[in-house]
Amino acid sequence: MQLLGIFGGTFDPIHFGHLNPVREAAKSLGLKQVRFIPAANPPHRSKPVADSHNRLAMIRLALKDYPEFKIDKRELNRTGSSYTINTLESLRKEFGNNIPIMMFVGADVFNEFNTWHQWQQIPDFVHIVVMTRPDHPVVGTSFLENPNWKISQNVDDLHSQPHGLVFFQDVTPTNISATKIRSLLGKKMNVDTRLSQVLPASVIEYIKLNNLYVNHP
Ligand code: ATP
Repeated sequence: MQLLGIFGGTFDPIHFGHLNPVREAAKSLGLKQVRFIPAANPPHRSKPVADSHNRLAMIRLALKDYPEFKIDKRELNRTGSSYTINTLESLRKEFGNNIPIMMFVGADVFNEFNTWHQWQQIPDFVHIVVMTRPDHPVVGTSFLENPNWKISQNVDDLHSQPHGLVFFQDVTPTNISATKIRSLLGKKMNVDTRLSQVLPASVIEYIKLNNLYVNHP
C-alpha cells in the first residue's frame, strides 16, 4: 500500500537533527518516501535568516545522500503565510483521501500545536508522528482531549487508517538545532570540527561559499 511521510520546517539550515531522526522514524514506520516541505513565511516565528533560494539549495545538497527523501516546494510556490492546513488540503487534492499520510514533527513543535491555524482540523488530513527531541519533553498534551485526536502506539493502525492518529516515536536523541548552528557560524573562531558533526559537508561548503549566517549573533 502507498504511504507518504511529510516533514515541514524552515530548514535554516537543514541539519542532522532533521535528517537522522526522520530517517530512523520513517524506517521504523515502513515509509519509503518522505517529502521535505520548506516553509516560505512561517506564521509562528521570525523570518528565516537565509532566503528561500539558499535554504532550498542546501536541502537539495543534503538530500543527495538520502534517496528516500524528496523536496516538495508547494509552500515556497504559494504567496502569503505558510499555513500547514493549506498544505495538507493541497496534498490531499494530489494524493486523494485514502492513502495514509504521516506528518513528522519534533516534540517542541508538537507542544505548541494548539497555536497553529485551524489545528483542530489537522487530524482530518494526516497522522501526526511526534519525534522525541532532547531538552523538549512532550508537555502540552491537554489539547489532545479534543475528540478529533486519537493516540495510538500501533504501527498497523497508522497503515490501515489514512489520518487521525497521534503516534509518539522514540528516536536516537540528536542535540542539534538550527539556532545553535547559526550562532556557531556567526562566531569568528574556527568551528569546522563542530560543524562537520551537525551538518552534511556539502551544506557547510555551500554556506561558506555564499557567506550565509556571517555576522549572526
Ligand atoms: P530553529 O533552531 O531555527 O528553531 P530547528 O533546528 O528547530 O530550527 P526547524 O526547521 O524549525 O529546525 O524544524 C523543523 C522540524 O524539525 C520541527 O518539527 C522540529 O521539531 C524538528 N527538529 C529540529 N531539530 C530536531 C532534533 N534535533 N531532533 C528532533 N526533531 C528536530
